[in-house]
Amino acid sequence: MTESCLFCKIISGEIPSERVYEDDAVYAFLDIYPASEGHTLVAPRKHFSKFTDMGAEDVAVLFEAARKVTAAVEKAFSAEGSNVGINNGEVAGQEVPHVHVHVIPRKKGDGGRGIKSIVWTEPDRTNLKEVAEKNKKKTCE
Ligand code: 5GP
Ligand code: ZN
Repeated sequence: MTESCLFCKIISGEIPSERVYEDDAVYAFLDIYPASEGHTLVAPRKHFSKFTDMGAEDVAVLFEAARKVTAAVEKAFSAEGSNVGINNGEVAGQEVPHVHVHVIPRKKGDGGRGIKSIVWTEPDRTNLKEVAEKNKKKTCE
């Protein structure tokens, strides 16, 4: 628990929320400003500011819970699919610095788009080999 963290306070019950799922490691609740009906946030009970601060086991547990919640939310709201994702860091739109997975149910004709509609910087596509090398070096470090 981090004293000043909004989601730590929600998870501990100090601030009320609309809970939809919980287990030993994870707490899931409705987003107060939903992007679509049923928009749910799935958060680890442990405080991590960023996704990249988490370890393998915590990530596995979080994403298994996110998968369960996604399947349930799709059924509950007769959604045909959903967007599932994390804003990792302020520059990427993260407003609350406690890791959470957004589960946003989607329906045909809802006017929404896919994950690439978040940002489109028109990067060079002619140097994919070099880009992959750069990535690989860091990923395999
Ligand atoms: P982020 O931008 O950090 O990825 O997402 C934070 C989300 O938390 C936003 O979608 C926002 O609507 C939601 N949110 C902000 N404050 C509260 C709150 O007090 N309660 C709940 N349930 N959701 C909140
Ligand atoms: Zn927190």
